[in-house]
Amino acid sequence: MPRMRRLGGRLKNMPVEGEKRVLLAAPRGYCAGVDRAVVAVEKALERYGAPVYVRKQIVHNVHVVQTLEKLGAIFVEEVEEVPEGANVVFSAHGVSPAVVQEAADRHLHAIDATCPLVTKVHREAVRFAKQDMEILLIGHTGHEEVEGTAGQAPELITVVNSPDDVDDLVVKDPDRLVWLSQTTLSVDETMETVRRLRERFPNLQDPPSDDICYATQNRQVAIKKIAPEADLVLVVGSTNSSNSVRLVEVALEYGAKAAYLVDFAEEVKQEWLEGVQTIGISSGASVPEVLVQELLDDLGEAGYEDVRAVVTAEEDLVFSLPKELRQDASGKRDARALGGRVR
Ligand code: SF4
Repeated sequence: MPRMRRLGGRLKNMPVEGEKRVLLAAPRGYCAGVDRAVVAVEKALERYGAPVYVRKQIVHNVHVVQTLEKLGAIFVEEVEEVPEGANVVFSAHGVSPAVVQEAADRHLHAIDATCPLVTKVHREAVRFAKQDMEILLIGHTGHEEVEGTAGQAPELITVVNSPDDVDDLVVKDPDRLVWLSQTTLSVDETMETVRRLRERFPNLQDPPSDDICYATQNRQVAIKKIAPEADLVLVVGSTNSSNSVRLVEVALEYGAKAAYLVDFAEEVKQEWLEGVQTIGISSGASVPEVLVQELLDDLGEAGYEDVRAVVTAEEDLVFSLPKELRQDASGKRDARALGGRVR
């Protein structure tokens, strides 16, 4: 995703004690689900031409949304805003069956870019609901992913926002309970919520596998390693990006002296750099690398030229495109049709 060249020299090179350095978290930035969703919109535009409607932000990143808008994507809040019969892409965060039905009722051509790891949680919810289990969904009320998952079995799902919610929960049968979670939460806080839930409901069942996705977990592990050494942590990401916001919180919990979330390098304030020797940098799962490189360029001009990668995991997962886009107009399979691992 290209960006216009920006003017440099905004940040001053202020003297500090010791050598200035940057610890750059790896992995950071785009995950497989975000990459797939963004490519899905690009392919839909290529194949059907503009406009292509997208329900909600395809991924929670200002730059990505603005770039796709320039290419002809129109972002709407609900499918009722999409003209009858038009093309609509469902975002990576997933949708409830009610939204799928509404799109069908309006004869929309829907392309489902829900991340497969969110779909996995949807399937778990449906399976437990069929067994008449009550589901405690740990996540943030109002987040699109939580709405989509809760909508899989609305009568059996209760959202638990934080450990503090646990005491007030009212359940039908404490012996028929299972917990699931949003994919982009803090691992530590979620485990604390589960601990409190189990204290109250000892027969609470665990999900069959982790719901917090590999990308969220990996980015948190990397920032935990950097934070204790960092005078300042900068996370590139948008304020509505759950996993990006969690990275700032985790950095502060693990010892960073200060931590901020920025959409763009231009948002870094000179005063944040006062007396700062070591800066830790990461980016959320919906952030293109170009935005991190711009931040590194600006910091380089301020004397932070020594950049060391802190690698805690390698990621090579690629998801296949939504099934509606796996073949081109002539029926030829797209190179991204199958997904899998890169190496
Ligand atoms: S953050 Fe995780 S769940 Fe969300 S799109 Fe990326 S891989 Fe999928």
